[in-house]
Amino acid sequence: MTPQSEDFSAWYNELVIKAELVDRGPVRGTMVIRPYGYRIWELLQSELDRLIKETGHQNAYFPLLIPQSYLEREAEHVEGFGPEFAVVTHAGGKQLEEPLIVRPTSETVIGEFMAKWVSSYRDLPLLLNQWANVVRWELRPRMFLRTTEFLWQEGHTAYADEAGAVAETMRALDEIYARTARELAAMPVIEGEKTPTERFAGAVSTFSIEAMMRDGRALQAGTSHYLGTNFARAFNIQYTGEDGQLSHAHTTSFGMSTRMIGGVIMTHGDDKGLVLPPRLAPYQVVIVPIGRGDHAAEVTEAATTLAARLAGAGIRAHVDDRPQLSPGFKFNDWELRGVPIRLELGPRDLAAGSAVMALRLGGVKEPISLEGAPARLADELAAFQDLLLERATEFRDARTVTTDQWDDFTKAVATGWARALHCGTPECEELIKAETGATARCIPLDGEPASGRCIRCDLPSAYGKRVIFGRAY
Ligand SMILES: [Zn+2]
Repeated sequence: MTPQSEDFSAWYNELVIKAELVDRGPVRGTMVIRPYGYRIWELLQSELDRLIKETGHQNAYFPLLIPQSYLEREAEHVEGFGPEFAVVTHAGGKQLEEPLIVRPTSETVIGEFMAKWVSSYRDLPLLLNQWANVVRWELRPRMFLRTTEFLWQEGHTAYADEAGAVAETMRALDEIYARTARELAAMPVIEGEKTPTERFAGAVSTFSIEAMMRDGRALQAGTSHYLGTNFARAFNIQYTGEDGQLSHAHTTSFGMSTRMIGGVIMTHGDDKGLVLPPRLAPYQVVIVPIGRGDHAAEVTEAATTLAARLAGAGIRAHVDDRPQLSPGFKFNDWELRGVPIRLELGPRDLAAGSAVMALRLGGVKEPISLEGAPARLADELAAFQDLLLERATEFRDARTVTTDQWDDFTKAVATGWARALHCGTPECEELIKAETGATARCIPLDGEPASGRCIRCDLPSAYGKRVIFGRAY
């Protein structure tokens, strides 16, 4: 495989195929998610679903095909998404009277039904979530990161007032997304607001979690939007208040997708392959029985017994008993596939009541007792999960520079992020992008108050704090 330092993109493109996460789909930009990749998605999805429900949302499902007229009702929305639409013009053997859009996101169709279901303040808040596939035509596709069709959840809520909707927007960002990224994916994300240039089409404000990949680029890993009354006006989502007055609802939306898998790969992976956080690893422990001839059956049986004991302790364990492959091949294979812990079990280990534990990172390789294996491995997995978050945090912090000097800024964004003051004008953001490739990633929520002159154009700074700039996926 191409080393990361030589060509990070090539490393990534080769790895997703070799690790059997995906295959290229027959239509440009589409991907087939293979079982190993899909299992990672399921592990993420089930935890995300739990958090979404825990914060009061209910799952529902809306149709894939949306009448074109719906998408045209919110002007900014259609303008922002228009070029990415896939349009169905023919069906049932004839041309359709109204073209149908394959959903790129579902604000419009859900808005239409919110209008139908909300009439009184008693109907609010309405907290919905949908698990779905969406289609956005991609000209520069990249597996997981930008694919024409991807899987995601989209939360859609309606509140009586701005305060409720804004609080919801922040709750999705912090309690659902930042938590999922940090606790499950071991990705140390920054929560922040997008500048107007980077805002979702049709939103009043957009918030995101931003993570740094191992090539120093940023990945927007989840977004949460306060839509104000823009969609409520376009779709007539109105309610009668306690005072009998008719008002528009305030709506929000939030989404996290299969892009997160790309984030996990690029946050933790190395030249040997994937490094999976235990909480998202399809197999947390792989046991490789080592024994020829008479010993083969004996060690394989002991490995199977051990795997069952580990499963009983809640550990996802797998015995690699493929007879035609050498242990050395298997070790490399599971390293490539990012399994956190490998156990080697040979006849001598078995006789000694132990197995050799090898961790995916740090070169740790030592014998552990079979008797105490479930408790020991549970501890090791928890420590491995923590280690990944720490390592990624250190990496990010070492590549983030706070600066007021343009020279330092351009150097910083070549390898990571810069925290700098910005004037807030779209033209100036455009100049910075043209000159350095960097975009405004977010205005961090926890940023210290700061003001002065713009890093690029010398106008007074906006936002009252520094903006994070970086090249991004
Ligand atoms: Zn400026």
